[in-house]
Amino acid sequence: MKSKKPLRYTCKIKSPKGKICGKSVLESKRSEHQKQHRKARTASGTGIASHEAAKKYLQKKYPKALIIRTGKEEAIPDFVLFNKGKLSFYELKPVKGDNLLKRDQRDWIKKNCLQKRLNAFLIRYEKNKDKFDFKIIKLDFDKIMEYCCSSKK
Ligand SMILES: [Zn+2]
Repeated sequence: MKSKKPLRYTCKIKSPKGKICGKSVLESKRSEHQKQHRKARTASGTGIASHEAAKKYLQKKYPKALIIRTGKEEAIPDFVLFNKGKLSFYELKPVKGDNLLKRDQRDWIKKNCLQKRLNAFLIRYEKNKDKFDFKIIKLDFDKIMEYCCSSKK
């Protein structure tokens, strides 16, 4: 008797960045796999909204500052702020979920901010209904360990 091959299909769902998934998925895992896409989409939507809200929040706090949203490069904090002749850096993280600095983010901040005596901050946000609440934490050599991946036990 020939063994029956498990049924598979190729996922054609697009990621938030517009790339087709293309994974070969077991038919029996279809709904589970689609759920992952839904989760990623929601997270991405919240990510975009939270960044826009955070920029407005910073601009309101520092009306005269120049605030730049950095690009896609992983390690660099999300915002660069230029105020009264000083540069400072802000990384946005949610309070819940993926809320810790990654190793390369920590290293970048240590090397390019703390060691050069430039201010670096963590902005933690929480979404309540459609409103974002922000809390700013100033990073130093101790704090950065507290809010980094490697301190997770
Ligand atoms: Zn997929």
